[in-house]
Amino acid sequence: MHSKQEHKLKVFWLQGLTCNGNAHSFLNLDYLGELLEKIEFLHHPLLPAKYALSEMAECKTGCDVLIFEGAYDPSLKRAGVFVDKILRHYAKNAKYIIAVGTCASFGGIFKATSPQTNSGILFNENDKNGPLQEYNEKIINLSGCPVHPEWLGFTLNMIIDRRKIVLDEEHRPQELYSSLVHHGCTRNEYFEWKVDVNHFGQKEGCLFYKQGCRAPMTHGSCNTILWNGVNSKTRSGTPCFGCTESDFPRTNFFETKTNMSIPADAPVGVPKRAYLTVTGIAKTFHIKRLEEPLIDYKNNT
Ligand code: SF4
Ligand code: SF4
Repeated sequence: MHSKQEHKLKVFWLQGLTCNGNAHSFLNLDYLGELLEKIEFLHHPLLPAKYALSEMAECKTGCDVLIFEGAYDPSLKRAGVFVDKILRHYAKNAKYIIAVGTCASFGGIFKATSPQTNSGILFNENDKNGPLQEYNEKIINLSGCPVHPEWLGFTLNMIIDRRKIVLDEEHRPQELYSSLVHHGCTRNEYFEWKVDVNHFGQKEGCLFYKQGCRAPMTHGSCNTILWNGVNSKTRSGTPCFGCTESDFPRTNFFETKTNMSIPADAPVGVPKRAYLTVTGIAKTFHIKRLEEPLIDYKNNT
């Protein structure tokens, strides 16, 4: 438990090349008010904070946690100062550096626009050769486009409570990214029996076979903690774009690449041959219940 009198975690939210999506997403955190009792924003682009960005850019103070949003671009300035200079000053003394969103984690969409110069702060896609390599041990990646507010809330609370955060190979907390987005989707039974969705928004069917769903290849808890606590993309009938992975963004979001009408990518950890065998067998069965509409609107007018 932390009282208001205890030392509040000093957090600086710095932006690189960004659309502001992560800063906005954080505002949706259910317990934001409670969290703000335990942390003090030295600067945040949207929330009330102690200092203006121009004051932080003078690099005369330090922070406990540096949150970086957006891709790293060596030529970018904020408040008239190179972001590179501000980033390195605060990174040096911070206990933790959190890269929020896929752009800060791997380069993301802004890397796709300028692949020669832009990257994440530690990773450049999945190569660990970003500008903050020397701070490797204190960097936590919270990928996502945008980051789920709960993923950031969870991480800050773990730091406040001085609990160990176990990371995966791409520096993402395993608590949040060890399972696949496919886990918890209400369409799992259709996935197992290879029943396709015919159009977006349809309640029945799986989006893996034709509509480009990347959830079986994507790490994250979107389908277990949900968005706004109520829904997810795949539950509502649109494909997962795989936004937490280092190869995001890919092309043709709404199409499944196939070989001989079977998805070219198998779920993580499933050998291709095993997957092809299981798919071939499942496709030979026709489960009437799964091929019928869930709700019979026609006969209930
Ligand atoms: S729609 Fe996507 S997440 Fe849902 S069951 Fe199919 S592959 Fe999995
Ligand atoms: S469902 Fe997929 S695309 Fe949507 S936020 Fe989760 S990981 Fe990203």
